[in-house]
Amino acid sequence: MEIDSQNQKLNVTFLPYPTPGHMIPMINTARIFAKNGVNVTIITTNSNALTFQKSIDNDFNHGYSIKTHLIQFLAAQVNLPNGIENLKDATSVETLGQISHGIALLQDQIELVIQDLQPDCIVTDMCYPWTVEFAAKIGIPRIYFYSSSYFSTCASYLIQKHRPHEKLVSNTEKFSIPGFQENIEMIPLQLAEWIRTKTNYSCYFEALFESELRSYGALYNSFDELESDYEQLYKSTIGIKTWSIGPVAMFVNKDDGEKANRGHNKELEKEPDWLNWLNSQQDDSVLYVSFGSLARLPRAQLVEIAHGLENSGHNFIWVVRKKVEENDESLIKDFEHRMKESKKGYIIWNWAPQVLILDHPAIGGIVTHCGWNSILESLNSGLPMITWPMFAEQFYNEKLLVDVLKIGISIGVKENKFFMSMSEEATMTRKEIANAVKILMGSGEGSIEMRSRAKKLGDAAKKTIEEGGSSYNNLMKLIDELKLLKKTRELSKKLIR
Ligand code: UDP
Repeated sequence: MEIDSQNQKLNVTFLPYPTPGHMIPMINTARIFAKNGVNVTIITTNSNALTFQKSIDNDFNHGYSIKTHLIQFLAAQVNLPNGIENLKDATSVETLGQISHGIALLQDQIELVIQDLQPDCIVTDMCYPWTVEFAAKIGIPRIYFYSSSYFSTCASYLIQKHRPHEKLVSNTEKFSIPGFQENIEMIPLQLAEWIRTKTNYSCYFEALFESELRSYGALYNSFDELESDYEQLYKSTIGIKTWSIGPVAMFVNKDDGEKANRGHNKELEKEPDWLNWLNSQQDDSVLYVSFGSLARLPRAQLVEIAHGLENSGHNFIWVVRKKVEENDESLIKDFEHRMKESKKGYIIWNWAPQVLILDHPAIGGIVTHCGWNSILESLNSGLPMITWPMFAEQFYNEKLLVDVLKIGISIGVKENKFFMSMSEEATMTRKEIANAVKILMGSGEGSIEMRSRAKKLGDAAKKTIEEGGSSYNNLMKLIDELKLLKKTRELSKKLIR
């Protein structure tokens, strides 16, 4: 009986891509599946597993069927020291290339593991386009996973299809995103370089997105109340099945310990200094400033941010990722010291427990690079945003926040630059930064309205994952559909025998 019910259980294997913005939401999704009765296996390498294994062990000890299957990162073959297995560890274009190469070399091991596990379905990151053919070969569905907005996928797809930017005479002239009901304007410079002009990388990126179209379906870390119009547009343009099951971070990571330690391999201290500092601040008075897990800003820009924040007169927590091999932190260190003395600001170096900080009542707004996960996490806490996009699809996300949802103020970045090829110059000045902060954190009508809209979306996000909510229902539908597929497959196998 026991064996029989195990056989009937759905087995799903998850294959995350090792960069926090891709991996964190996929691990959350895997945990949600397990919490809903699915046998889950996550394939990853050792050093990446360390960033989430505690939660998996915790879930397992609570009776959920979830495990990690480790594969070996071939560090020596790509000339990397042991433990450098995640894109966030890259400090130069060279190391980025080596890490990416190391990840590509995992394909044989991954295929063997999946063949051995014989799952009923694989949920794989967008960055593994080869899993479409592989899934077809072993006769199971591949579900495409990419934690960003429908809005950005539709914009990118329609811009690549109609290429409106090529009809303009200059890179700074405006065009409207084709096929969108709303008039959303951008300039060519805000498009990723591989879309703007054909580069060596264009084929690589095109293959990733094209694999979505050939997948059984796609999982979106989004929810109806946020962008249902664009989900509809996705269905009519991209045309594959999709399930909105977000915000996935809210389904899991419910206690502070989980929120603090997710995505990072070092335990947070019990009473961190920043928490004591935040506890001493008034509600909604502190601005959180972060540019995600990949971007390392040039010195000139750090200086402008420091002045801008100080001149704004508002208190802040700022996450600064170190640019290794550069000895210019001293200037920021002086600033850090001065801000600490005056209790005006707090700097966290390299990695912050972002979800925990955003949940703190003292936080009243965020400066974000418009990475989708950071956007959802800010929304979960009902925070309005200053949008400072940098690369990839972040400029589309900015448009969604500023023009459609009206919960963000654009700082005004004009150019999309890959995070490893940022200019050494500052793109935004201290004056522009201080002005945006004053508006967002001030008590003007516009800011109050933005705050209230963000709060409403935060409330909707909480409801959508509860029983009966749309994301909850979508998740249940997906699991049921996969179970049905499994049954049909097994039946047809029996008939063939
Ligand atoms: N993150 C974090 N602490 C940091 C930097 C990033 O917890 O100091 C997490 C953040 O909460 C989010 C993910 O890393 O879940 C970053 O994903 P996002 O899509 O926002 O941007 P990316 O890093 O991919 O540019």
